[in-house]
Amino acid sequence: MTKLIINGYRGRMGQALLECAAELPDLNVVGRVDAGDDLGAVIDQADAVIDFSFHEATLPTARLCAERGKALVIGTTGHDESVRVQIAACSSSIPMVWASNFSTGVNTLFWLTRKAAEVLDEGFDLEVIEMHHRLKRDAPSGTAATLLEILRDVRHRGRDVVRHGREGIVGQRTNEEIGMHSLRGGDVVGDHTVMFAADGERVELTHKASSRNTFANGALKAARWAVGKNAGLYDMQDVLGLK
Ligand code: NAD
Repeated sequence: MTKLIINGYRGRMGQALLECAAELPDLNVVGRVDAGDDLGAVIDQADAVIDFSFHEATLPTARLCAERGKALVIGTTGHDESVRVQIAACSSSIPMVWASNFSTGVNTLFWLTRKAAEVLDEGFDLEVIEMHHRLKRDAPSGTAATLLEILRDVRHRGRDVVRHGREGIVGQRTNEEIGMHSLRGGDVVGDHTVMFAADGERVELTHKASSRNTFANGALKAARWAVGKNAGLYDMQDVLGLK
C-alpha cells in the first residue's frame, strides 16, 4: 500500500487525483493539503507527496520532502529557471518525479517530437502551438516548454531562438527561430501541436487531452513507481520506460 498526500487538493487536478486514487486499491490518500494548510503536520504519515498546486508552493514542498525523506511527484508548472534549479537540488536526497505532463500520450508526443526533429532537417521550420482553458494562469504551458526544450536540444539552439507570438512588422521568419503560440479559451484541458513546415510539405504532431484523469492517473503511477527508488531526478519517460 502506497500512502500519499495530495498538495493542492481543492484544485482541478487535485480533485481528479482524489477521484482516480479512490479507484486504485493499492493507493491510500492519507492527507489532503491546500493553501493555508500545514503540510509539515501530516507529511510523516505518507510515503510520497503529489504536488499539483501553485508555482510558489513547490520549492517549500520539495524542501520539506527532502528534510523528511519523502518521495515527491511534481506536476505544478510555471517556475522560473532559478527556482527550478533549487527544486531540482532537493532530488539529491529523495526520489523526485517532475514532469510538465503526466499523460502517456503526451510523453509519446515528446518521444515522437525528438525523432521527427532528428529526421526533418534544417529545411523544416519549427512552430509550437498550445491551447488551454481560460482559467490557466501560466503561458506557454509547461508541456509546450518541454517541447521547445526538445526542439532546441536536437537543433543545438539557445533559449533566445524562441519567438513568443508575432505582431506588427516582424520581418521574414529566420531559419533559427522556433515560434511559440499560446491560445486560451473555454474548457480546453490541453492541446499541443508541433509543426515542421518545409517548402512543399508539412508535418504536424498533435495531442489533445479531453480529461484531467489522464494526467492524474499518470501522476499516481509515478508516485507508486517513485517510492523506494534511489534519490534522483526522474521524469515520466523514466516511469514509462521510454528512455
Ligand atoms: P487550480 O488552480 O485548479 O488548483 C491549484 C490548487 O492549488 C488550488 O486549490 C489552490 O488553492 C492550491 N494552492 C495554491 N497555493 C497553494 C499552496 N501554497 N499550497 C498548497 N496548495 C496551494 O490549478 P490546476 O488546474 O489544478 O493546476 C495545478 C497546477 O498543475 C498548475 O501549475 C498546472 O499548470 C499544473 N498541471 C500540470 C499537469 C501535468 O501533467 N504536469 C496537468 C495539468 C495541470
